[in-house]
Amino acid sequence: MRFDIVTVLPGLLEGPFAHSILQRAQQKGLAEIHVHNLRDYADNKHKSVDDYPYGGGSGMVMTIQPFANCIEALKKERHYDEIIFMSPDGERLNQPIANHLVSHQNILILCGHYKGIDQRIRDIYVTREISIGDYVLSGGELPAAVLVDAVVRLIPGVLSDETSALSDSFQDDLLDAPVYTRPAEWKGHSVPYILLSGNQKAIDEWRHEQALERTRNRRPDLLSD
Ligand code: SAH
Repeated sequence: MRFDIVTVLPGLLEGPFAHSILQRAQQKGLAEIHVHNLRDYADNKHKSVDDYPYGGGSGMVMTIQPFANCIEALKKERHYDEIIFMSPDGERLNQPIANHLVSHQNILILCGHYKGIDQRIRDIYVTREISIGDYVLSGGELPAAVLVDAVVRLIPGVLSDETSALSDSFQDDLLDAPVYTRPAEWKGHSVPYILLSGNQKAIDEWRHEQALERTRNRRPDLLSD
């Protein structure tokens, strides 16, 4: 699976993809992540990518030309299943969206900045708009990294224990059960006895009950339908 990410601040995306699971997924050849500097596609002498908003008001708006050149160039190389714009007014990212996107081959992600991008870029090129939550960040880079992480960890072979993504929170509309590791006793706080019992069936049942109870307490909305 391949991701192309278009940004004015490629440096912001270096860290998230250079460590741990995302790094290993690329080393294993399971995911390719390419970051493109929008400024490289700006036609003007100063490599500027923004301009004042029509109608006045505060904040700059990202211009069409650099995005158009960049997207057209990338589209000549391959077909994109989705061209996603990260945006606080998009559909809110959740596990089903990540589960769906992992079935794609090529995803192009656009990161906005300043006041946002010229609406016509969204109208002409964008096929999907995704928000990572109801708050505003200063750029689309962290949201893009969140989206890529959520999808890449679902690619078969990326997580060492194949089943572990399936037992995570939100798969099956349940939160995850509490987890424990050694020591079995810490300053009077002990691990629930059942986990030490060796009875796998009882452990599975306990985990399911705990997941249900946690979901009922913390996110009853997940159980409602
Ligand atoms: N004026 C815009 C916000 C611009 S923030 C509005 O009110 O909707 C600048 C850029 O950061 C956005 O274009 C978007 O790409 C990114 N961004 C900010 N918050 C985000 C969020 N919650 N989810 C996804 N992208 C976000």
